Amino acid sequence: MTISSNNKMISAQPSCADIYESGLLPVEQALKQILSALPCLTDYETINIEQTKGRTLSQAISAPFNVPKHNNSAVDGYALNSKDLPNKDVASLSISGTAYAGKPWRTSINPGECIRIMTGAVIPSGTDTVIMQEHVELNNNTISVDSKHHKGQNIRLAGEDIQQGETILFPGKFITPADIGLMASLGVCEIKVQRKLKIAIASTGNEVISIGDTHSASTIYDSNRYSLYAALQRPDIEIINLGILEDNPEALLNSFKLASKTADMIISSGGVSVGDADHTKTALQQSGQVDFWKVAIKPGRPLAFGHIDNSVFFGLPGNPVAVMVTFYQFVLPALEYMMGIKDKVCAPKMQVKTIENIRKKTGRTEIVRAILQQESDGAWTVKTTGKQGSGILRSMSLANAFIILEHDRSSVKTGEIVTVQPFSGLF
Ligand code: AMP
Ligand code: MG
Repeated sequence: MTISSNNKMISAQPSCADIYESGLLPVEQALKQILSALPCLTDYETINIEQTKGRTLSQAISAPFNVPKHNNSAVDGYALNSKDLPNKDVASLSISGTAYAGKPWRTSINPGECIRIMTGAVIPSGTDTVIMQEHVELNNNTISVDSKHHKGQNIRLAGEDIQQGETILFPGKFITPADIGLMASLGVCEIKVQRKLKIAIASTGNEVISIGDTHSASTIYDSNRYSLYAALQRPDIEIINLGILEDNPEALLNSFKLASKTADMIISSGGVSVGDADHTKTALQQSGQVDFWKVAIKPGRPLAFGHIDNSVFFGLPGNPVAVMVTFYQFVLPALEYMMGIKDKVCAPKMQVKTIENIRKKTGRTEIVRAILQQESDGAWTVKTTGKQGSGILRSMSLANAFIILEHDRSSVKTGEIVTVQPFSGLF
């Protein structure tokens, strides 16, 4: 796994203010640059079908037989030869047997005969048409059929769903419950999937303490590692928890170096700004490479991206909301790209009317925490969760969607259409 660095944005490492004045890296460009620098997993593992939900296929799945395998009945009724269908009036046919799903009728029928047939039963030889039981008149062992029917009706043809040899799933497919059912219908049991992506997470900061440690006036509990841990809890990821790292360039460098030996990706939070205790970027520069570190996004402006040996590195900001926003806008698409997921859009975006004025500066993308709701007339509208400070994690907890206010957009007025990204596609 190698990572190419193609950053040309930061040659002289300007200060935050310098970059701000000369224009930060727009979000779309940052994401493009991130994706173009990412390696893709090439290793796979073979697992049982029951464990494949939320994993990514690394093989093609082809049908070993037709689905359905045989012509079979789509309804409960009577199978007959269409030559016995009347052109006018009615025809009487005697019932010579019953065909069940899983218990076919194996004897051929004679002219003037029919077979009672259940849904899913193989069409008996000598018959080519099924009449629904509601459309015949039954008298003892005889049915009367009128002239409204046609040859071939109510029969599901062999291979109508899937043809033998047809490829139905391709490498890169993010496996859903429907895919699992489909593979099961073909009798596939062992499946090759991309191996799990190993992601190491760390919090940084001398003021940051773990839950359970004694709280003082100068400490804060670590929330970032918990929200990141939860966001990464999915079947295709193995999380390596590096704990809390102190604001010390050497300690950071050692931990990142060590993590890079096993992790495909390292995500840290905090210490990426320009304060005296912000050493993440320096550690990254010494142990690997920084590709850029300022993005025109609010919240989340200081963001380091780069690599340490074979590990991709994301240095997210320290503020809890900024961590979550940058995770969903940059890290999530990145890790899904690395796993070779081809068909899953990270999260759908929709256009919705806002019922609130929202202040916005041009020249940066602003990600607003919002509530998407359905009005009594059925229309969907969106409003903010209120205070939007990058440390106010409650704004994320109250929200069920992001409003994405694009780079060039200025303040938004009530009634305008905005881009909304519901959490249901992200979380
Ligand atoms: P920094 O970018 O390291 O200066 O952090 C920005 C703000 O986020 C500071 O107020 C930090 O105390 C806070 N912060 C940093 N890391 C965490 C964390 N793991 N959990 C909660 N808050 C944090
Ligand atoms: Mg810090």
